Amino acid sequence: ERVTEAMFLVLVVEDDRDISAVLRTLLEAEGYRVAVADCAERGLREARGHRPDLMLLDLGLPDRDGQSVIREVRVFSPLPIIVLSARTMEAERIAALDAGADDYVTKPFSSRELLARVRAALRRAARTGGQPSLLKIGQLDVDFAQRQAQGPGGPVHLTPLEFRVLECLVRAHGLIVTRDHIIGEVWGPDRVGDTRNLRVYVKLLRQKIEPEPDRPRFLLTEAGVGYRLEVD
Ligand code: CA
Repeated sequence: ERVTEAMFLVLVVEDDRDISAVLRTLLEAEGYRVAVADCAERGLREARGHRPDLMLLDLGLPDRDGQSVIREVRVFSPLPIIVLSARTMEAERIAALDAGADDYVTKPFSSRELLARVRAALRRAARTGGQPSLLKIGQLDVDFAQRQAQGPGGPVHLTPLEFRVLECLVRAHGLIVTRDHIIGEVWGPDRVGDTRNLRVYVKLLRQKIEPEPDRPRFLLTEAGVGYRLEVD
């Protein structure tokens, strides 16, 4: 029996039947198996019973709020959770990430973006703990083991703090990392909430990584929430 992407089971927890039908069509066309639950209680039952590889969770469910669903799933499973939320609900998205969600997609979503997030989340789940030591990030070839970087014009110096910010983003494999998470890991938990240093370091990193630092394509800002790193 071959184990391929076709074996991945995606659990969609969404009460809007039009949206869950679109998601089912989209995901099945990519070879995923799909289960749909139309409320939080059914979603939790399916998550326990069928052991899905990934959960797509609508934050606007009729019976429970999304954060409590995420916290309950986290008690018994590390499965990747991507939340679906309205574009305007920024505080809700941050709360979902804090509760243990891995990423979010805003509605109305683009199918290309949604599938990219699903792939990234499954990739990260498959690689827990492992991190490639050589990585191409924008115009840099970064060697995390040797703490060296090469740009188009030769060696590029990255400071230890710049390396730590990058590592934090690399570990997320293309998923979002909240500002507080990065600050807590790089500067320490007592600095959480103070975003000035992080903004400075993101700017410095962009000058080294991005071909056009004012139009970032690799180190991306997720407004009001955090950052994500697009890597090859
Ligand atoms: Ca809903």
